[in-house]
Amino acid sequence: MRVSFVGLGAIGCPMAEHLAKPPFSLSVWNRTPEKSRAFALRHRVAVAATPADAARHGEIVVMCLPSSVEVLEVLEGDDGIAAGLSHGSLLIDCTSGDPDTSRAIAERLRGRGVGFVDAPVSGGVKGAEAGTLTVMCGGGQSLIDRARPVLEAFGKKIVRCGDVGAGDAVKAMNQALLAVHIWSAGECLATLAKLGVDSSVALDVINGSSGRSNTSENLFPERVLTRAFPRTFKLALLDKDVAIAAGIASRAGVSAPFIDLAARLFAEAHDSLGDEADHVEAIRYIENQAGVQVS
Ligand code: NDP
Repeated sequence: MRVSFVGLGAIGCPMAEHLAKPPFSLSVWNRTPEKSRAFALRHRVAVAATPADAARHGEIVVMCLPSSVEVLEVLEGDDGIAAGLSHGSLLIDCTSGDPDTSRAIAERLRGRGVGFVDAPVSGGVKGAEAGTLTVMCGGGQSLIDRARPVLEAFGKKIVRCGDVGAGDAVKAMNQALLAVHIWSAGECLATLAKLGVDSSVALDVINGSSGRSNTSENLFPERVLTRAFPRTFKLALLDKDVAIAAGIASRAGVSAPFIDLAARLFAEAHDSLGDEADHVEAIRYIENQAGVQVS
């Protein structure tokens, strides 16, 4: 099966690695060409000169870019993906995108006989390396069935959430929950630290109690208490995700003050900590404001 992968970033790269072997014949394109050349040398796959060339190679084209803004950029123009997609091909967008843009893209491609599935992922870089990502799909069942062999290469739980845009919407709400968990755990542990309670003791108790979450069980022990703060998923991307969630809730007519507040706080933290900070480093912003370190 001829597959192209566009966007060899922190998560795109390990996802693409699973496609760099039979039964797939892979071609890759990345904005920074050194990365695609290094990938191609490591895995003996083809490098596409342009996004359009990547699309010409692939019966199935996978994209994994920061947001729907970059997806549109890479689709457009003489060298864009849209210019190379042929009738009968399928575009899978693994970007955590926004549902409205995905619907508009799907509509435009449908007129040319090209299928579209939004298929954002969860599970982090470790999950991508292990091939155990959760993939949330939006699109017609037959298109998702066609996408499945590709999605199964890097995903373990692959779920059709609804029509195009539903995958993006579920992903955005998952990210809103993650943001709320991170921020609220940071506030709770900063408060306890001020009271003189050791954070590892507090986490031990919370993780045996009803307030526990993936954030308290994994992210804090591995990244905050150790002060390791590995940069695997940018704060800028979580900021983008929560803003998408707030927009979806607003357009759905749902009053969502928690999500709105999370969007505002993550935008502030992103602004303060910069584009390269990891999402868990939002804790540093809480620590700075509280004048205490959670460790
Ligand atoms: P990165 O920032 O690490 O990588 C982004 C990729 O997009 C790079 O290949 C980059 O190219 C490319 N890119 C950026 N801007 C443009 C542009 N204007 N035109 C063309 N290419 C561009 O992001 P991630 O890999 O972490 O995330 C990708 C998507 O996956 C996001 O939507 C994110 O929210 C989602 N995600 C990420 C997870 C993670 O753990 N990292 C987990 C789950 C979902 P270049 O190399 O040139 O910079």
